[in-house]
Amino acid sequence: MDFKGKKILVSAGPTQEPLDPVRFITNPSTGKMGFALASSAMRRGGEVILVSGPTNLSPPSCSLAGKKAGGVKFIPVRTALQMRKAIFRNLKGVDVLIMAAAVSDYRPKKVSKRKIKKRRGAFLLKLEPTPDILYEVGRRKEGRILVGFSIETEDLVKNAKAKLRKKNLDLIVANDPNGFGSPTNVVKIIDRDGKVESLPRMSKEKIAERVFDRVKEIMPACARKGACAHKGD
Ligand code: C5P
Repeated sequence: MDFKGKKILVSAGPTQEPLDPVRFITNPSTGKMGFALASSAMRRGGEVILVSGPTNLSPPSCSLAGKKAGGVKFIPVRTALQMRKAIFRNLKGVDVLIMAAAVSDYRPKKVSKRKIKKRRGAFLLKLEPTPDILYEVGRRKEGRILVGFSIETEDLVKNAKAKLRKKNLDLIVANDPNGFGSPTNVVKIIDRDGKVESLPRMSKEKIAERVFDRVKEIMPACARKGACAHKGD
């Protein structure tokens, strides 16, 4: 129960960005990693809020959307904008934010109210960027511990380190896309000092435990300072 009394906000799953009433842009995230993090935080005594995009999983100890049960409040969302709203609405008093969601970086600029009809020739789809939720939270860190996830097909560590700096994170969990949908993953946990901890293949539950072990190592320092005041906060 080493996270007793701590408020932990976790995001999970993909987002779906609609194009018309029957089509959307998404990615293969199944939510397993985020749900494992929420379970682990709950078992360790945390007061957990799980904000998730659409998945086939049942939230830990809780089947009723929006209801508090067994230490987990579950908030289902669909789009990146809905996820942003849910994260910011629930950010007050949060000690640890872990963004494990695979948030879509772009969404269709126009959403058609009617099903788009098939026509001859190419179909050009205009996309616009979604807000980077973690970047926004990182700009006003307010003593929270921030953990991001990074999926890369090349230069895994270099790109993950750049994201850690840009988004003002404490830890980033870097993995390759093979982890999507798998019960296991091979990840590297990178901290602000640039230290890289390479973990062997293990279950997402075990990875979640290790992430919280690392968060716990950072927390006493934050408590001493009253807030985790890092450079650039
Ligand atoms: O997409 P990217 O590789 O930048 O994702 C890195 C981290 O940023 C992840 O933890 C992800 O949940 C978060 N993110 C976000 N808002 C976005 C895109 C990513 O919070 N629009």
